[in-house]
Amino acid sequence: MDIKITQVESGKLKPKPADESNLGFGDILTDHMFTMKYEKSKGWFNPRIGPYENISIDPAAMAIHYGQEIFEGLKAYRAKDGGIYLFRPKDNFERFNRSAIRVCMAEVDIDTAMKGMKELILLDRDWVPRSPGTSLYIRPTMIATEPHLGVRPANEYLFFIIIGPVGAYYKEGLNPVKIYVEDFYVRAAQGGTGEAKTAGNYAASLLAAEKAKEKGFTQVLWLDARERKYVEEVGTMNMFFVIGNEVITAPLSGSILSGITRDSVMKIVKDWGIKVSERPVSIDEVIKAAEDGSLKEAFGTGTAAVISPVGQITYMGEDHIISEGKMGDLSQRLYNEIISIQYQEKADPYGWTERID
Ligand SMILES: *Cc1c(COP(=O)(O)O)cnc(C)c1O
Repeated sequence: MDIKITQVESGKLKPKPADESNLGFGDILTDHMFTMKYEKSKGWFNPRIGPYENISIDPAAMAIHYGQEIFEGLKAYRAKDGGIYLFRPKDNFERFNRSAIRVCMAEVDIDTAMKGMKELILLDRDWVPRSPGTSLYIRPTMIATEPHLGVRPANEYLFFIIIGPVGAYYKEGLNPVKIYVEDFYVRAAQGGTGEAKTAGNYAASLLAAEKAKEKGFTQVLWLDARERKYVEEVGTMNMFFVIGNEVITAPLSGSILSGITRDSVMKIVKDWGIKVSERPVSIDEVIKAAEDGSLKEAFGTGTAAVISPVGQITYMGEDHIISEGKMGDLSQRLYNEIISIQYQEKADPYGWTERID
């Protein structure tokens, strides 16, 4: 499919942020966006790049009432040579389509969606920041637009991609976070939608996260919905524990998101000759290991932070300090490895990165 491009007139372009040390996350968006429409009888049509602007939808649009919304999050990185690189982008679009299937939305044509994303980035290429640790965040999204108030899958969808520069996640070194083990609220149950990147999961997580923040925690560590026994994931990150010589992460049982950073970490750790297990890990095992000293490190993984070291974990009112509240060696090594692959500071042995300009 050919992508029609309508550029913003040069006099009407937005001013670019002057200070790359203050980009933050999610407030600054570029001049253009990619959109594509779907109707059941026609399939996908009208892929176009145009000015970043408000979208107009019917108040009865089904996304608003019944939550048919899915999204993705990935980044474009500016290497030292000025080139713009993506990290495992196809995995994001394949996951997007798995999310679509779970909430009965139309699957996108991955080639067109990826082509649209790349052309959009190239059109707005001057927005890709250059300072260390900064990147261009990419948000592919789909909403049900059909106006209809009966509950059923919609027959019309809008797919769009918006992009914007984001700051370095860590400004003053990689500060370990404090996490609160949530033993009352749950994010997702097996058989539910936890493995899809769909809006409702995030709405479901907000209350527990707000309460934990009030108590001084950065994140909530979710336990399984049935028994509140097994560790699932954290906020928008998958979770890893280093117990003895084993690196452990929860299996993809249906209630957790299949993180691309999670997968990258598992491959790298395996290549380093370290034992990595995808297996159920109970909170009791983690706490016991914290108490007897065999819990060496704990960290979250996700596109935003890459590796987020955990320095304290609080369960049933008791605080447990992990690796003396500092970043562990493996966490640091993994962070350096992934960052250097993403920013092309070292050769990418996995074929994960792709230059687009
Ligand atoms: C996006 C997300 C992750 C991390 O996935 P990555 O592909 O590594 O960015 C983990 N958990 C949840 C709930 C998420 O939404």
